[in-house]
Amino acid sequence: MAQNGTPENGVAEDIPALPAPVTAQEIRHTKIFIGNEWHSSSSGRTFPTFNPATGVKICDVEEADKTDVDKAVQAAKAAQQRSSPWRRMDASSRGRLLHALADLMERDRRLLATLETLDTGKPFLQSFFVDLDGSIKTLRYYAGWADKIHGKSLPVDESFLCLTKHEPVGVCGAIIPWNFPLLMFMWKMAPALSCGNTVVIKPAEQTPLTALHVGSLVKEAGFPPGVVNIVPGFGPTAGAAIASHMDIDKVAFTGSTEVGQLIKQASAKSNLKRVTLELGGEEPMHCVC
Ligand code: NAD
Repeated sequence: MAQNGTPENGVAEDIPALPAPVTAQEIRHTKIFIGNEWHSSSSGRTFPTFNPATGVKICDVEEADKTDVDKAVQAAKAAQQRSSPWRRMDASSRGRLLHALADLMERDRRLLATLETLDTGKPFLQSFFVDLDGSIKTLRYYAGWADKIHGKSLPVDESFLCLTKHEPVGVCGAIIPWNFPLLMFMWKMAPALSCGNTVVIKPAEQTPLTALHVGSLVKEAGFPPGVVNIVPGFGPTAGAAIASHMDIDKVAFTGSTEVGQLIKQASAKSNLKRVTLELGGEEPMHCVC
């Protein structure tokens, strides 16, 4: 491999050079994102987020709790009504919106990688090439699926017509860990939106910053209000409120086995929402998203 990313056989690869991180970083988005607007927390509380490489506080973030999760779910539920712009939108247009979001993430790739490195402490090279590359590709992959999700026609006996049609599940909750904040966000959000669902996402309390920047890009891309809602906060409050919410139809979680058990219990005791768990484990085939 030559130094400029061109392999020795002369075929150019589509790998950008590693830029420098953004310096003198101003953190623009620290509030709760509901219905395409920024909100202060109902409780008036904030929490600090730190750069783990230096121990220095980066900024304070609005702390969502159950009341804020309720508001986010209301917005997501309204956006999911049959007459809503999101439900009436062509599947191909959903795909175009996901591509538009991917384009904006490409535009802000250096900034997002800088925020990810500040908040997680991981090397900038990893944020830029692994987390951002994977996040953008995930969006584009699911953008392509949006208009290729279909049911079947079944050859039943006699003169009956038998068809299956795939419908969105509804409001999907997502609870994200601290180690891949942006990538896990995309793994959960992109398939849910591709299928026409709406989402309420709680980033990890240690690493909320890239998710909040993506909130601004969701609005800029043109997603209707309420399709994506982001509630930074703590597990036992905001996270538990998602897991036990009666109006959330499905929850996707990545994190520890102990919390995964709590989420299944909360689902069972509330509305038996569908649950997808990706938990801590050492076996080589444990990743089921
Ligand atoms: P964690 O389970 O403590 O936290 C993960 C998320 O769950 C955070 O957003 C947290 O706020 C939330 N949460 C905490 N308590 C909650 C509750 N009672 N109800 C609802 N949500 C709650 O995990 P962590 O320490 O942040 O992350 C590390 C763990 O995640 C490790 O076990 C690691 O192996 C696992 N993990 C696994 C994978 C994978 O690929 N399977 C990927 C990343 C992380």
